[in-house]
Amino acid sequence: MARYTGPVCKLCRREGLKLFLKGSRCLNKEKCSFEDRKTPPGLPPKKKGKISEYSIQLREKQKVKRIYGVLEKQFRAYFAQAHKSQTGITGEILLQLLERRLDNVVYRMGFASSRAQSRSFISQGHITVNGQRVDVASFQIKIGDKVNIKEKMQKSNVMDLNIKLAQSLNRYPSWVIPDYSNFSGEVSALPSREHIDMPIKEQVIVELYSK
Ligand code: SF4
Repeated sequence: MARYTGPVCKLCRREGLKLFLKGSRCLNKEKCSFEDRKTPPGLPPKKKGKISEYSIQLREKQKVKRIYGVLEKQFRAYFAQAHKSQTGITGEILLQLLERRLDNVVYRMGFASSRAQSRSFISQGHITVNGQRVDVASFQIKIGDKVNIKEKMQKSNVMDLNIKLAQSLNRYPSWVIPDYSNFSGEVSALPSREHIDMPIKEQVIVELYSK
């Protein structure tokens, strides 16, 4: 699966907000480069004047793709799926599909410090869903699914650090129930709009793709 491999902190500067792409580093004001440098990389100082509607829509789409670590082709496929769905508002379903990705779920439960780290755990075979190894980061979870960390990863320092951090932050969303003592978690509901904690204007993305 293709993925972005360039410098990630630049992406925060490009989007003008902290995207939390580097785990615990993002929580440390001294280590997060966005805290001191918020200007977009490689661009001349902002010209005054009206920003076009298209450019606002494009930036919003890029921001969401970067938050979830999804490239254009897959993002379009999520949009097409959301658009076809008869069960709700397209923009909200799009966000729900992104939230239901296994890499996001493992991150949201606190077993990984970033979605990128979560993807790496999954591709290395450290994650099971309902007892079966799943090595596809885009796997869509459903209500009642049980996620487990495999034994080898349970004993690693990185998992120890991640769990300590998750316990100290205690901010997992209400649709997942992590059980840190058993290195597992359950999906108790599907994520809905109020569970998205990043400033996202999904309607703007819908307008972009509906042209
Ligand atoms: Fe963005 Fe700061 Fe994290 Fe780098 S450390 S990814 S700039 S939030």
